[in-house]
Amino acid sequence: MKIACLQNGEPIVADVDAPDTAYCPTCGGDLVLRRRRLMVSRETTYFWRHANNSNLRCQERSRSTFLSWGNNNGS
Ligand SMILES: [Zn+2]
Repeated sequence: MKIACLQNGEPIVADVDAPDTAYCPTCGGDLVLRRRRLMVSRETTYFWRHANNSNLRCQERSRSTFLSWGNNNGS
């Protein structure tokens, strides 16, 4: 996902200056900041991913918006 929550509940967008960890706004689980290098544009994109396969049933994992990343590992 692209937007997570900080410990104080504020939304935080996954970006280069985002913290390494945050919380899922849906299930409250731990999230880790991940980055992906796009070979075509040479840009690096950032996104939040659930840590250590926590909250496997969180609906954020099945958001169709995340499919555009080409990532089938969940978010
Ligand atoms: Zn979640």
